[in-house]
Amino acid sequence: MFFTKLRLSGFKSFVDPTELLIKEGLTGVVGPNGCGKSNLLEALRWVMGENRPTAMRGGGMEDVIFAGAATRPARNHAEVALLIDNHERLAPAGFNEEDQLEIVRRITRDVGSAYKVNTKDVRARDVQMLFADASTGAQSPALVRQGQISELINAKPKNRRRVLEEAAGISGLYQRRHEAELKLKAAEQNLARVDDVVEQLA
Ligand code: ATP
Repeated sequence: MFFTKLRLSGFKSFVDPTELLIKEGLTGVVGPNGCGKSNLLEALRWVMGENRPTAMRGGGMEDVIFAGAATRPARNHAEVALLIDNHERLAPAGFNEEDQLEIVRRITRDVGSAYKVNTKDVRARDVQMLFADASTGAQSPALVRQGQISELINAKPKNRRRVLEEAAGISGLYQRRHEAELKLKAAEQNLARVDDVVEQLA
């Protein structure tokens, strides 16, 4: 399972539809300061479900939408699509029926984000879990932003452990455990309520 193409439209400085082909081997992106190299990496994180505006260097998530320039008006929506080759059928269960996966995230002003996998509407969580189970994702240590290496060197052991856990592909399990704990707590509260009712009836 590997990434083959990133398609952007209206995302940050990429106002016109733009495609980045990710071929086998090393892909390098070169260009002068401010031309949008980091925006490409952010688009990759964003389509994989990143929900922290700060990780996108913005104050709110709508800041990823093209904000306008001297000669062009602002856009109302941004869209990023990530194409994944799955001919070896290594995608996690539930997403493994087709040779190619196309994950699309679209954000519209005042509406928010919507996700699709192979044209089917899915939830943000589905996309986040897809990538977490495939040992990658918006928080993946494989995506290294500026300043991150020195942060890692100075990080507390607990934070450094998180990087190893992400690489080992177990971060999806943490999310599932957290959701199971919330369900358990809700079930316990319901049980306590049933006990109260039974006591009143006795
Ligand atoms: P450097 O080499 O300095 O790190 P870079 O090539 O990584 O630069 P980016 O930081 O990716 O460049 O791109 C910055 C550019 O993106 C700036 O020109 C900024 O104005 C533009 N930009 C960021 N957000 C938006 C937005 N919402 N709308 C329009 N342009 C944007």
